[in-house]
Amino acid sequence: MTVAASLPSPTQLEADSAPSPFEAAWDAIRTSLRRTCGARTFDGWLKPVKLVGFDSDDATIRLAAPSDFMANWVETHFAEQLLQAWRSMLPQVARVAIGTDTSGAVLFSTVEPEAAARLQPESIAPAPVEAAEHGFEARYSFDTFVVGKANEVAYNAARTLAEGGALGFNPLFLHGGTGLGKTHLMHAIGQEFLARQPGARVIYMSAEKFMYEFVAAMRAKDTHSFKARLRAADILMIDDVQFIAGKESTQEEFFHTMNEIISAGRRLVITADRSPQDLEGIESRILSRLSWGLVADVNPADFELRLNIILKKLESMPQAQVPNDVVMFLARRISANIRELEGALNRVVAYSLLSGHAIDMEFTQETLADILRATQRRITIDEIQRRVCDHYRIKQAEMSSARRAREVARPRQIAMYLAKQLTPRSLPEIGRRFGGRDHTTVIHAVKQIEKLRQTDAELDADVRLLMRQLES
Ligand code: ADP
Ligand code: MG
Repeated sequence: MTVAASLPSPTQLEADSAPSPFEAAWDAIRTSLRRTCGARTFDGWLKPVKLVGFDSDDATIRLAAPSDFMANWVETHFAEQLLQAWRSMLPQVARVAIGTDTSGAVLFSTVEPEAAARLQPESIAPAPVEAAEHGFEARYSFDTFVVGKANEVAYNAARTLAEGGALGFNPLFLHGGTGLGKTHLMHAIGQEFLARQPGARVIYMSAEKFMYEFVAAMRAKDTHSFKARLRAADILMIDDVQFIAGKESTQEEFFHTMNEIISAGRRLVITADRSPQDLEGIESRILSRLSWGLVADVNPADFELRLNIILKKLESMPQAQVPNDVVMFLARRISANIRELEGALNRVVAYSLLSGHAIDMEFTQETLADILRATQRRITIDEIQRRVCDHYRIKQAEMSSARRAREVARPRQIAMYLAKQLTPRSLPEIGRRFGGRDHTTVIHAVKQIEKLRQTDAELDADVRLLMRQLES
């Protein structure tokens, strides 16, 4: 069974749209992929993939992604899975080929020779069957996890646990905000553990799935075998347990099961978006049991870690040319979480490959306009005044004073100008914050600075610097 790597000429394709059995199969495959690979991966990568048709000449299903980059990605990560899914529905399918769809016309031939070489069957990511069967994402490994101050404790604990030696702690409880790498670490633990001990029983599931399966087992009056299966695991990992907190009957059972797992000496890993103490409605005896283990938090990444993560991601995107200023800009501006950072980088790269436009600052800002607006830090007038006063070495009281001497009047005007540019405050509000000045004074200041920026290079440089400082 091979996955097609050949890129046939478009003439081989049927002119009509796909015949209905194929369309129906594709619908079903998409639904099941969405379930198995998660909504996030599915929406980002698989959802845009279209069914082009079935080529009966070579028994090939042709799919099209919106860009070469996405086509490669889908090919690398999902070729095997797609082929199996197709064959299970329609055994006559021998191959799946993924091409690129540019503006409606499918151009399988646009893939460059070296990209085509990457698509050879033997180069398709050989995710270990073991790990793949467990549903782990190959790209969520320890190798791709970038370590920094924010996550080093969690990382080291995860590694220790995955290495399988004697453990000084159990369970491992990882907590932190969304998009900071908790799930990534769990997949990495699972894959590393399996790589060292092939055949080990590793169970990973979301708390939601746990709940769902548990309730189903209760309905079937067979919670025994469900629990027995979990107890038999060498490592049991339950992701996002905050979903269970509060759901009383499941919660009770869940924590009983956890207890049994720990008592049986099995490795248990739990993640949540908050610390054990902050999980509401959980009995204190269970809480203390959870806290016996190692509780490690995953913190928001600092600038350095964000930068390193971008650089690491770029290593796996050799086709992307991202200049330094853009890398720095992304690391500086997309700071909420890593998922968002990764999403922003992927979007910029994908759009660039899609449009053929080189990646520069302007392109990046345009492509990410919505994200950038949403992540714009709230800048306050007080902050502006402080920065400006620092810069010009004057007292902050001068912002409200009546003094008209140039050395205080000019900085004051600059501060008003910045307040207008960088905050949503109205002119009268700004005036009030500058010693109760009239809004016409603010208008005058804004106009004045706008004019000076055209003619006075030094002042313009000051304003730019202040803006950069305030926006970072
Ligand atoms: P969480 O489960 O905490 O919400 P995820 O594990 O799903 O977060 O991480 C979100 C995304 O960010 C994933 O694609 C993951 O690979 C990436 N990511 C998070 N932390 C790191 C890191 N330290 N190094 C590399 N990638 C990371
Ligand atoms: Mg997660």
